[in-house]
Amino acid sequence: MSRRPVLLKLGGSVVTVKDAPHTANLDAIRRLAGEIAEADVKPLVIIHGGGSFGHPTAKRYGLVGGYKSRGQLRGVAETHLAMLTLNRLVVDALLEAGVPAIPVSPLSSVVTRGGRMHVIELEPLKLLLNLGFVPVLYGDVVMDEELGFTILSGDQLIARLAVELNAQRVVVGVDVDGLYTEDPKKSPDAKLVQRITPGEFEAVLPYAGGSAAEDVTGGMVGKVRELLWAAERGIPIQIVNASKPRIIFKALRGEETPGTLIEPRRSG
Ligand code: ADP
Repeated sequence: MSRRPVLLKLGGSVVTVKDAPHTANLDAIRRLAGEIAEADVKPLVIIHGGGSFGHPTAKRYGLVGGYKSRGQLRGVAETHLAMLTLNRLVVDALLEAGVPAIPVSPLSSVVTRGGRMHVIELEPLKLLLNLGFVPVLYGDVVMDEELGFTILSGDQLIARLAVELNAQRVVVGVDVDGLYTEDPKKSPDAKLVQRITPGEFEAVLPYAGGSAAEDVTGGMVGKVRELLWAAERGIPIQIVNASKPRIIFKALRGEETPGTLIEPRRSG
């Protein structure tokens, strides 16, 4: 690959209606497809979350912890199919907007070991990028060498791909303005963290205790922990609000936007 790609994550909280099972937010998907087309950043890889498509089925069959009984096999298939449905909606909207998008399935290109990405087939991605495609991956159920199978989050996937593909930067779109000191949906005192380095991270979130802790660990903090891994390896990461119009457009173009910038380790 001649140029370093930009990696874009579209959160499940943005592309789906989180409290309505298997409900896509088609307005948001179409608007974002338009912004991505207009920004015209190349090379570009897109990864979207599962939101209300992936999580309910994965939870019902207890897939994160891996294989326990044959009854779960159907759940693995159903979870993957739900993600294929959502992926199709995202890719259709991108094609409609004129983006040369193409689905790439994590189930067929990634194997985890104990829940962490272990085997990654990068060659198809690199060849797709060379030809000008925009690969669209997603959080997925994947096969795991120890667990049998597990759920691979879009956040682990984007952090690892960012490093493997030597991304120039990562843009992560969620439904809030960035990383706050507490869940902004629960605490009016939450403050937006505008810039943070991996080394500062642990110091910034002691506030994330009390009743917000459960959500914080599952939602934003788990996400940032994955992203820090890439930041520690030199890749700048911007967390921005993809639910607000024009923010993803600006972030992709490298224009100033409100949000959280995770800066790579400062080099002296
Ligand atoms: P997605 O599925 O879009 O990747 P999540 O829903 O997992 O994202 O995480 C985003 C959510 O995390 C936000 O909607 C917000 O309510 C919640 N959240 C919890 N703690 C924080 C925090 N400290 N800063 C920002 N958001 C937080």
